[in-house]
Amino acid sequence: MTTPMMQQYHAAKAQHPGMLLLFRMGDFYETFGEDAEIAARVLGLTLTSRDKSMPMAGFPHPALENHLRKLLAAGLRVSICDQVEDPAQAKGLVRREVTRVVTPGTITEDEMLDPRRPNHLLAIVPSRQTVGVAWVELSTGFFFAADFPKSHAADEISRLHAAEALLAQSEFDRLDETLSRRLPRTLASRPDWTFDPETTKAALHSHFQVATMTGYGFHDDQACVIAAGALLIYLQETLKASLKHLRQLRPYRAETVLLLDETTRRSLELTRTLRDGQRDGSLLAVMDRTVTAMGARMLHDAILAPLTDRATIEARLDAVDECVREHTLRSELRELLEQVPDLQRLTSRVSTGRATPRDLTAVGRALRLLPRVKAKITSRKSPLLNELESQIELCPDLRELLDRALADEPPMNPRDGGVIRPGFHRGLDELRDLARNGKDWIARYQAAEITRTNIPSLKVGFNQVFGYYIEITNTHSTKVPPEYIRKQTLKNCERYITPELKEYEEKVLSAEEKSQALEVELFTEIRDAVAGQTARLLNTAEVLATIDFLTGLAELAATRNYVRPQLHDEPILELRDARHPVLDQTLPPGTFVPNDAILGPDVGHFWLITGPNMSGKSTFIRQVALLTLMAHLGSFVPAKAARVGITDRIFTRVGASDELSRGQSTFMVEMTEAANILNNASPRSLVILDEIGRGTSTYDGVSLAWAITEYLHDQIQCRALFATHYHELSQLADSLPRLRNYHVQVRELDHEVIFLHQIGPGSAAKSYGIHVAKLAGVPEMVLQRAGSILGTLETRHQLPTTPRPPVEPRPVPIDMPQPVVVSADPSATDGVTMPPERPRRRRAMPAGPS
Ligand code: ADP
Repeated sequence: MTTPMMQQYHAAKAQHPGMLLLFRMGDFYETFGEDAEIAARVLGLTLTSRDKSMPMAGFPHPALENHLRKLLAAGLRVSICDQVEDPAQAKGLVRREVTRVVTPGTITEDEMLDPRRPNHLLAIVPSRQTVGVAWVELSTGFFFAADFPKSHAADEISRLHAAEALLAQSEFDRLDETLSRRLPRTLASRPDWTFDPETTKAALHSHFQVATMTGYGFHDDQACVIAAGALLIYLQETLKASLKHLRQLRPYRAETVLLLDETTRRSLELTRTLRDGQRDGSLLAVMDRTVTAMGARMLHDAILAPLTDRATIEARLDAVDECVREHTLRSELRELLEQVPDLQRLTSRVSTGRATPRDLTAVGRALRLLPRVKAKITSRKSPLLNELESQIELCPDLRELLDRALADEPPMNPRDGGVIRPGFHRGLDELRDLARNGKDWIARYQAAEITRTNIPSLKVGFNQVFGYYIEITNTHSTKVPPEYIRKQTLKNCERYITPELKEYEEKVLSAEEKSQALEVELFTEIRDAVAGQTARLLNTAEVLATIDFLTGLAELAATRNYVRPQLHDEPILELRDARHPVLDQTLPPGTFVPNDAILGPDVGHFWLITGPNMSGKSTFIRQVALLTLMAHLGSFVPAKAARVGITDRIFTRVGASDELSRGQSTFMVEMTEAANILNNASPRSLVILDEIGRGTSTYDGVSLAWAITEYLHDQIQCRALFATHYHELSQLADSLPRLRNYHVQVRELDHEVIFLHQIGPGSAAKSYGIHVAKLAGVPEMVLQRAGSILGTLETRHQLPTTPRPPVEPRPVPIDMPQPVVVSADPSATDGVTMPPERPRRRRAMPAGPS
């Protein structure tokens, strides 16, 4: 296949290795070879073949956008090679060029993006101790970078849920397993030079017009700065557009964010449910009362990255509080915001030169609403609202320009005309007049000439060859004025032209074309003027997003009867009559049973919760985690009262997770998650455990659960809730001073068991497992046999007799700590003198049926 056209194809293909190439041939986009096989599968096209060796698949060009969307959704990166000259005019082979590159992480078109979610493009630079990560949200211009310790990198990367990631080619095979599992499926292997420290530095310096990145809070040689430069080079190469809206590279400070690992985010169903991965039913879905896409995206980010700085959270809470109290303020702001278009994504399209005329009118619409938004939040009590107010940039000059220049309802394409408002540009108005009023002028000219020449049959006509002409029948040939120029002689008449007519013709015929070109030119000028204000527009857009985010939280708090949490520096937690935020909204009103959770150094920081299956243990412990998280993002919480100590991390180990599909056993997954918690939790953390040790024998299970409880209680000393059906563990209360037993209350009525979902002090008397089995329809004979085995087991118990490792007091650091790494190696206590064992009641571990 070495026809000239195929040479052209291969050249285009080589420009963007790793991308699927759509190659324009006449009215079709064609794909070849491996690309064709992929396109056939993803788009459902038929594979054909020109010669035997090369499969091909194509589709008619109007289907492009539709098919692009499907290719992107399948995680593919696509380059498009178009015909760049008119085939009719081409001498020989039509010239073709790659005119567009579309990849999942670089989309800015609204139709292809989920308005309520950020779309991240990521680059990583792994080094020995850390992983440098940079990420950009191209449609809004957010650009961040940070070096993460190896232990956190995978979690931070999965938090970003990027659409696409870049990695230097030579790193590709070396990538470690935990990291690679967290990367998006669209993973672009990039030439090593695009990750070269000097090249990336130069790219950043020239883009930001700086001599060093220190002004942004980085060292020039940080790994994440290299990653940021690599991103920039990729964007310049693929977008070939202005990236003015990437105004600054911001350092992401992990220590200001409440860390949530991947397992925790998933099992708490923060942005999607475990069951079907949908947004519906997630915490995000029930919390989202925003009315703009910008606000929705901010809430999404806030839920995945709650704050740890008390002052910042209090500032948000103050603002939410004010909007909860001031009902009119809230509803008026929301009414205004509802009309605000997505100024972030609009501005980004403007600055990358992709905005349509309608996008510009939308920017104008946003600007028109600003003074009213600003007026609403003037002189408020909340310092945050006041600060937001002062940051709104009204951009009056721009607003005036857009109002004056743009038609009310312009078309999508500037070439269609009707973009510019009449009266804005005199030249354009004249051209339009000409085009529109051409016929009138001709009629007037004809009448004037009849009178002047006294030839009643004089007529102005038009044909393709001569254009406009004056036709005079031979009867009047003597009266033809001398300045008429003869052009054509027919049987009964002659045709003439005049300079005046020709001049006019020139104007009329080209008026339409010219007015079209002028409109495009004016539109581009206006778009550039808007692009020049990118920074002000993006600042203002972020303010609007924040106001929507805050008023959304206030609306939620007011309508669902939430309470403002009081924040504390001590590691305490006190929730009164708390409700699960999701079940509170999805169960029939009044059916959810509220519960208290009171944890702290003085009242016990470890809650051991026993109770039968299906009684509400997991619901309760998750609800504690969710309310803690909500408080850290500045939200009110579903409770009667709440006091929340600042928390550095929330860990969960609940339920089975989808790691199973990755070939790990339930038990291995459980233990990996437990190890992560034991190695990384600090005294400021909150740990939620649901049924540790299920995946192994009862002996193993209880022993591990026992030892883990002791370790969390003695060594880590963090707030923890542990739901278990190992009733044996409740004996730990005798030896662990800050462990408290709780149980889910159950009422037995005439052999019926009713789950009250009420948490009360003390441990559960029975596990009711056999009862639940009965409810499930297990045959009576099995139930009876199980009952008698249980009786035997319950009479032969034994307690562990070995002493616990020594307990060191763990002061809670004043500053937010980096996660403390505690050795999980049991031999670490070797050689330490054991303190005398605390008195404890002896009770046997189950001995198993003999
Ligand atoms: P467990 O973890 O003890 O097996 P779950 O927490 O999964 O039980 O709860 C089982 C079901 O009970 C839930 O799906 C929910 O519908 C209901 N439930 C749990 N807690 C409550 C509550 N506090 N009020 C009302 N219903 C609840």
